[in-house]
Amino acid sequence: MKHNKLERRNFIKIGALGSLAALAAKATAAENAPDPTKIVYRTLGRTRLKVPVVSLGVMRADTPGIVSRSLEMGVLHLDTAHGYQDGRNEEMLGQLLKNYPRDKYIISTKIYMPRDKNTRQFTTEATNEKFHELLDISLKRLQLDYVDILYLHVCDNRDHVLHPDMLESMRLAKQQGKTQFTGVSTHHSEPEVIDAAIESKFYDIVLSAYNFKQKHHEQVRDALKRAHDAGLGTIVMKTMAGAYYDKERQKPINCTAALKWAIRHDFVHTSIPGASTFEEAEKNCAVMYNPQITDTDIKELEEGLQYSSLYCTGCGECTCQCPFGLPFNDIMRSYMYAYGYRDLHLAKKTIESLSLNADPCSNCTDCKVTNCPNGWDIRAKIHDILRIKTIPDEFIV
Ligand code: SF4
Ligand code: SF4
Repeated sequence: MKHNKLERRNFIKIGALGSLAALAAKATAAENAPDPTKIVYRTLGRTRLKVPVVSLGVMRADTPGIVSRSLEMGVLHLDTAHGYQDGRNEEMLGQLLKNYPRDKYIISTKIYMPRDKNTRQFTTEATNEKFHELLDISLKRLQLDYVDILYLHVCDNRDHVLHPDMLESMRLAKQQGKTQFTGVSTHHSEPEVIDAAIESKFYDIVLSAYNFKQKHHEQVRDALKRAHDAGLGTIVMKTMAGAYYDKERQKPINCTAALKWAIRHDFVHTSIPGASTFEEAEKNCAVMYNPQITDTDIKELEEGLQYSSLYCTGCGECTCQCPFGLPFNDIMRSYMYAYGYRDLHLAKKTIESLSLNADPCSNCTDCKVTNCPNGWDIRAKIHDILRIKTIPDEFIV
């Protein structure tokens, strides 16, 4: 009995110490927690949605913990797409977000419409019915009645943006309450796509690739400014430019500096950097508390310009020189997903969506593309990434 009492006393003592330790840990966590009043917000144009300058591109976050940690750190806007991880990305968000009040996050998804691999124009399968079929699946996966922003995904040119059937699909989506706002996303020919979105007098938001490695970043910047001036919301992606300068991942890009560079102007309203680890997510989120770019950051990024990187700038040189009109931007984007982000699944899906044969270069003795500004051996790169088609899905985690 005595023994038990001692045990009991010890238990109380240990319990009290444990509680004190827990309280102390909580207090330390609270002290270390970022001060939400320090978050820098901007408004997404006429949508009046106010968001921190850093949002979350959910594409690479395949665990809900990364999303909830980002929300905890102040993120409001979550960006996904119908095609990410074959729909599992939207499903994961649906499972997680049912625990959050609907007014505690702003969510976007994107619908990709089929296009001809040679002309890059939408095929006859790009119909209003198809669009809404995909959108309804997305809403079901997300367990939502509506998204806040709905994008027409991967617009390559003015025709995509102003395609009458797509405009009608978007208009209906708004009318039926499936989305609050509409937008276009663009990975190359960004100025043309952004200007078409302005011209449409319909779209509310542009989501554009924008980073310090783009050869045409000044034109993208100016187009984003025009969009802002016209009242559109402006969101940037691909801010990390592939995250590494080299395929071997020995030379990392300073992603924090790169992110700060991309949001350094007020007319860029927010960014959607991705994260596949807690560390990456926390590093990205820290930028919303301190987005000021320093001279040291700029110097480091400038030094990085001397290196090639995994990011295809979409300069179009290869398109002009290759007689077979291969979809270089998409092939190289897939390369970046595989080697930069180590997302083999996304890399494979991107390649498969292009319907290329096993060796699209087989008709050439010598490659005609000789002046890629990245100094890439284009043929070797195509050959390298196309091998991914032969890897069975079950070997790709
Ligand atoms: S080898 Fe070069 S020129 Fe020929 S198809 Fe391939 S990329 Fe085009
Ligand atoms: S030439 Fe190089 S950087 Fe330019 S679009 Fe082609 S692969 Fe990309």
